Amino acid sequence: MFALERHPTPVSIEDRTARLVDPVFGRVFTDHMAVLLYNEERGWHDGRIAARAPLTMDPASAVLHYAQEIFEGMKAYRQEDDSVSLFRPRANAERFRASARRMAMPELPDELFLESIHQLVKTDRDWIPTSAEGSLYLRPFMIASEVFLGVKPAAQYIYMVLASSVGAYWKGGARAVSLWVSHDYTRAGAGGTGAAKCGGNYATSLVAQQEAIRRGYDQVVFLDAAERRWIEELGGMNIFFVFDDGSIQTPPLTGTILPGITRDSILTLARDEGLVVREEPYSIEQWRDDAASGRLVESFACGTAAVVTPIGRVAGPGYEFTIGSGSTGQTTQRILDTLNAIQRGRAPDPHGWREPVRV
Ligand SMILES: *Cc1c(COP(=O)(O)O)cnc(C)c1O
Repeated sequence: MFALERHPTPVSIEDRTARLVDPVFGRVFTDHMAVLLYNEERGWHDGRIAARAPLTMDPASAVLHYAQEIFEGMKAYRQEDDSVSLFRPRANAERFRASARRMAMPELPDELFLESIHQLVKTDRDWIPTSAEGSLYLRPFMIASEVFLGVKPAAQYIYMVLASSVGAYWKGGARAVSLWVSHDYTRAGAGGTGAAKCGGNYATSLVAQQEAIRRGYDQVVFLDAAERRWIEELGGMNIFFVFDDGSIQTPPLTGTILPGITRDSILTLARDEGLVVREEPYSIEQWRDDAASGRLVESFACGTAAVVTPIGRVAGPGYEFTIGSGSTGQTTQRILDTLNAIQRGRAPDPHGWREPVRV
């Protein structure tokens, strides 16, 4: 389905090696990309792996006006034996279809999604950094390309996959991040697009993220839109709470938060370890009280890009509190190490999460 059209002038080995020394997240791209077209008459067609190049688009393309767009984020990891494995790509394929349904876009069959990923990673595997924390970040996405200013689901789409070489997300090890709790802005309401991985969710989060930075915090954390009380998630990461009795908790998937694959993996690993796990709402008042009393000992955020990120300080209008010692907690570190070991082939894979790239 994906014809290989090799780049006529790929980046030289010396230049590529230099770019892979310390890649800034999302800035270093590989030589190729996957492209697949859709229209109502022909369905999915003209799949290819081609040289990465700018798109030529009509300025009246629907996505540019009405944001009919979805994406995914996943990684390919170099394994101990130098083979390459994807981490739970089938979960991304399934979520991509769920996002498509919510945005009235055509569902890409899982086999095509997976084939595009396997082919691209195989073609550009030399772009996976050899460093201990390196990986190849994959960005599948789909845009409405029909040329029409009327408001309706488009009749034409472009699906693409980009690959980007990434190193450690946080330079010098996972530093605890500080969070600003937004009491003014929300990212999703009931019936909205909170559970779909669409660019629009990020567009609405930016002003709140900007406010967090302006106030001296690293990231924003959102409350629910109805009561402005229940913790939902960060702009692009889910959140976990760890208690002094060893139990862990995360907000439930009620449609306003993104069903993270890292979130799901952590829940599974925690249950494997025999930890008590709750998917229940947690309020900002409770978070403050529990941090003060010491009942809450750790909090962390999670997502594909940074995997697990400890949370140190939390603040909102008129309050600020520190979680535990304000640095990386034991449970947070153990979960990060366990996930890393599975992703990189250094630990058994009881749930079949690794998928070797087809060669
Ligand atoms: C992608 C994403 C996450 C994390 O999902 P993973 O599958 O773990 O990478 C969390 N929140 C939002 C809003 C996201 O877009």
